[in-house]
Amino acid sequence: MAYRTLNPFTEQLVEDYPEHTDDAVEAALAKADGLFHSDWSKGDIQPRLAVLKSLSGLLTDNRDDLARTMAEEMGKPLAQGQGEIDLCAGIAAYYAEKAADFLKPDKIDSELGEAWVEFQPIGVLLAVEPWNFPIYQLIRVVAPAIAVGNPVLYKHAGIVPRCAARFADLVREAGAPEGFVANLYISSEKVAELIGDDRIQGVALTGSEGAGAKVSARASEMLKKSTLELGGSDVFVVLDDADIEKAVAAGVEGRLSNAGQVCTGSKRFIVQKSVSDAFITGFVEGMKKAVMGDPLDEATDLGPLSSEDALKTLTKQVQEAIQHGAKTLTGGKPADRTGFFYEPTVLTDVARDNPAFYQEFFGPVAQVFVVEDDDAVVALANDSHFGLGGSIFSGDTDRARKLASRIETGMVFINTTTTSMPELPFGGVKRSGFGRELGDVGIKEFVNRKLVVVS
Ligand code: NDP
Repeated sequence: MAYRTLNPFTEQLVEDYPEHTDDAVEAALAKADGLFHSDWSKGDIQPRLAVLKSLSGLLTDNRDDLARTMAEEMGKPLAQGQGEIDLCAGIAAYYAEKAADFLKPDKIDSELGEAWVEFQPIGVLLAVEPWNFPIYQLIRVVAPAIAVGNPVLYKHAGIVPRCAARFADLVREAGAPEGFVANLYISSEKVAELIGDDRIQGVALTGSEGAGAKVSARASEMLKKSTLELGGSDVFVVLDDADIEKAVAAGVEGRLSNAGQVCTGSKRFIVQKSVSDAFITGFVEGMKKAVMGDPLDEATDLGPLSSEDALKTLTKQVQEAIQHGAKTLTGGKPADRTGFFYEPTVLTDVARDNPAFYQEFFGPVAQVFVVEDDDAVVALANDSHFGLGGSIFSGDTDRARKLASRIETGMVFINTTTTSMPELPFGGVKRSGFGRELGDVGIKEFVNRKLVVVS
């Protein structure tokens, strides 16, 4: 895809960006690899942690401006963009404070003598990232990589070139050597070529199943590790003892935040029968009430989708769902206005043989299912190709905990929607990918766990 800023609210083209030339990409790779072999990567961790601390401050200082850039490039409402930047600043600060401890050698009891595992950098990483959280997706990879000492080249999505460039500038401003973290405007073909280069030692991708399959197949072919954070069709479970008002508010937010373009958005609402009328009535009302509008207007809850392609895909999915028997309780079509807006939509009667049943809807479209008991909740929740997150609302946390253990996903949240925090490992199972980002687990995805034994 070409690199282009096109405002999804006005539908106006703002600027085109040329791709980096082969020479520029080679220079970036050579620079990053040179830094990997320098003291900056392999020496004392403290200067790298100082960069993270400074980056955290710079993100906070530039919060409003970054949120505006996101709004302009992919339509995220301002307050949500500011929230994203706060989280990013938190992630940088978290690793600045904790990484030295996470990367301390682990001692091992061995009959052979003294033994330990050291955590060392492995080399230049390639990150391929999507547009839905333009800064957060980058910092999830970059913050732990800086702490470990792995340089990062990243290819961001074609529709967020300004966010992409801005982030690399901030990392440099924070004190990282020029080129330690570099933004590349490159094609998918160039990504495949780079993965084949010996100087690239790991690949992290967040995005669609299709992109994940291609990038990870190429990494495997070249015998390199990859992590994949792909789509999801998370359940939002409302048990018969849940606080319905709280569940309704959380459900609407979980489905509409970022215009529904969240891998861990609440997508399949599974509601127990005795509370289904109350929940569904409140939920449909809440979806209808969301204020659609200019992402730069503070009153806006729901911005446009990120692109015309995204709008076309969602429109087709919903039409197909309806043709196969789904009913709409509200919405069901693009909004009649300028901008790539889609109406908040609630679908029911999505049968198992409806293509929609197994699809991810990347937009403000909810599917609602009514079931009888806890076993039925688990059976429906696990009847998915995805396994990313999910949430359970219940007044009985013991009951909810038992259900949480039975749900086949990488994350389950009780009485709140799936969310991301610096200390919480993020990732999924099944077709949602493999590997984890964030927390103490995330920082150890791309390290050499080097064993040393003194006999
Ligand atoms: P993509 O997976 O196509 O894009 C994500 C990133 O991967 C972008 O940087 C993209 O670049 C790049 N990419 C795409 N194909 C390749 C390839 N063959 N080799 C290397 N890089 C590649 O997602 P879309 O933006 O097209 O969204 C489609 C669907 O993906 C959504 O509807 C949603 O279901 C899912 N998705 C999930 C996300 C998540 O957070 N898990 C985030 C975004 C999307 P470029 O932009 O240049 O094509």
